[in-house]
Amino acid sequence: MGNSVTEPATERHDPECLFCRIIAGEIPSERVHEDDLVIAFKDLHPQAPVHVLVVPREHRRDVTELAQEPQLLAHTATVASRIAADHADGDFRLVFNTGKSAGQSVFHVHAHVLAGGKLAEGEL
Ligand code: C5P
Repeated sequence: MGNSVTEPATERHDPECLFCRIIAGEIPSERVHEDDLVIAFKDLHPQAPVHVLVVPREHRRDVTELAQEPQLLAHTATVASRIAADHADGDFRLVFNTGKSAGQSVFHVHAHVLAGGKLAEGEL
């Protein structure tokens, strides 16, 4: 039984979305993790020695939408932590660019995991 007021967005796959297409395997990516809820792959233009994107499989626009599903948000952070532990020394920066002026260019929510050395302070 649906309740359109309280339910999160139900759009699961957007054929126009770059990350939906990566998740579907239509566009190649170097995956470092996948499970039922998220995939993680190396960023094509790394800005740190380890730069991985953790992406929920289902299409959600940004972290504001993801926050409506706290378990999925927590899982995204847990996977990010594991990646930092497995690929670096466990220290990491977790970034959700949210909105155009904050630097979001792909409007399918993704967490940037940046790790692997002394990270520069400032903009991603
Ligand atoms: O936060 P923002 O939306 O700008 O992040 C998108 C990220 O997706 C960029 O860091 C970009 O390098 C990455 N990307 C990628 N593979 C693609 C297209 C974009 O890793 N095919």
